[in-house]
Order: sequence, then C-alpha cells, then structure tokens
Amino acid sequence: MTKTEHHVLGLSGGKDSTALAVYLHQKVPNMTYFFCDTGEELPETYEYLNKIKARLGIEINYLAAERGFQHWLDVYNCYLPSPQARWCTKQMKILPLERFIKDKFGDNTVYSYIGIRADEPQREGYLSKQPNIISKLPFRDDDINKEDVIRILDESGIGMPKYYEWRSRSGCYFCFYQRKYEWVKLAEQHPELFEKAKQFEQEHSDGRMYSWSDGETLDELLARKDEIIANHEKSLARHKKKKPNQALIHTIEDILNEEDDELPCLACHL
Ligand code: SF4
Repeated sequence: MTKTEHHVLGLSGGKDSTALAVYLHQKVPNMTYFFCDTGEELPETYEYLNKIKARLGIEINYLAAERGFQHWLDVYNCYLPSPQARWCTKQMKILPLERFIKDKFGDNTVYSYIGIRADEPQREGYLSKQPNIISKLPFRDDDINKEDVIRILDESGIGMPKYYEWRSRSGCYFCFYQRKYEWVKLAEQHPELFEKAKQFEQEHSDGRMYSWSDGETLDELLARKDEIIANHEKSLARHKKKKPNQALIHTIEDILNEEDDELPCLACHL
C-alpha cells in the first residue's frame, strides 16, 4: 500500500510552539494540531489555546492520558516526578501522543514540527524514536530567535500567554521545573492549585513526605516568601538596568530563565 505523509504540531500553551503555529499555519495548511492535556494545567493555558484557535481558525486535538496524575503517582509508589524521574511526561504526554499518531496515521510518515529556536542550546526531549515520526525544526532551519518569536506573536494579535507575568513556562501547575518565585506566585494567583500541589506532597499511604521544590516543602517555601520575592526583585532591578526599554513581561521571563539550571523537556514547555 502507498504510504502517505502527514504533518503534526504540538502546542504546549507556551510562546515558541504558538509562534511556530502562526509561522506555519499558512505554509502547511493540512497541519494537525494537538495539545497533550495532563488535566493539571493552568487555567491561563486553556484560555491561551482558545485564543490561538480563534485567531488562526484551527482545530486543536486535546490528548488526555487514559488515567490521571493521581493514578500514576500511585503506580510510581508515591514518588513525585522530578527532572531525574520524569515519569509524568512519559505517561501523560508522550504515550498518549504516540497512541494518537498510531490511531490516526498508522505507520505512515508523520512530520512533527517542534518550536526549538535558533538561539537555544541543544535540548533533549521528545524527538520521537518511532521510525515513521520525523522531527522538523523550522525555527532552527530559518534562524528564528526569541526576538522573532515575540514579534511573530505580537503581529498575529495572539501575544504572550498571560501567565508569563509571573511564570516562565507552560505545563502543569505543580511542575517541578518551576522556580521558587514561581511557586510563591502560584500561591498568590491560584491558591487552590497551590493547596492541591501541597496535598500531593503530603498524602501518601506509606506515611513518607515528598517535596516538589529542592530541599523544602511548599509550606516551608511559602514561609520564606518575603526573602524569595526580595531576591527576585533584586534580579529584576539588575536586569532593568541592562535592558531599560524591555517590556516587563519579557524581563520577568528573561530573569526566570536566567535562574534556570535545568533545561525542561520539549514535550511540555515550548
Ligand atoms: S509540565 Fe512538568 S510536571 Fe507536567 S508533565 Fe511536564 S515535566 Fe511533568
């Protein structure tokens, strides 16, 4: 049987994958868009996806894992996921995506477009190991950097996701990649989600205690919130001196990224 070719683009709710959708939606009109929905996303992410759909006139396939986070937490013996044990990405994003591609396209060739920019370091992550899924990196090929991404989003009328005012990445509200400042802001912006994240630290049948953030529980982290905010504001002031004309939303995103010592996974945060 003759093999056919298909094109897919995963939206994470972040700026790079969104800019890539804007960049390609006319060049690749038969693109299939998808969003891997863990069920633990920020409300701002769903709002942003609605805005993308409305502006570009596209459909998005929401791919949900068959079982939710609590189920997988039990399977993994209560160990919270971490950069070293990223079972959440595998169970809640990569496997649902591979199932979707298999069901929809079988063994046909699928080009998967990924929003890694030309100015980013080499990153590991979801570059599929399935032989029929071929990764394409148009921003790398066309030398598109962060400034270009911001411009593409501004010109499209979509703009940046709203959560960039206090958080630098898309993904689950409890993502362990977030900085301590972002946890403090989660408690302020979405106190109910912060409480849910705390419960995942605490409620284990084995009686053990786990923490999302290095070296302290969320309660301990929040008790230091004044110190964490003061440190963040010092970085902000330093950065504003270097780039006085930069919009605040971009400055915040820059400094949160500067504080990063871990590169996040491609499946979740582009
Ligand atoms: S966003 Fe973070 S917590 Fe959620 S699946 Fe991705 S790596 Fe895991």
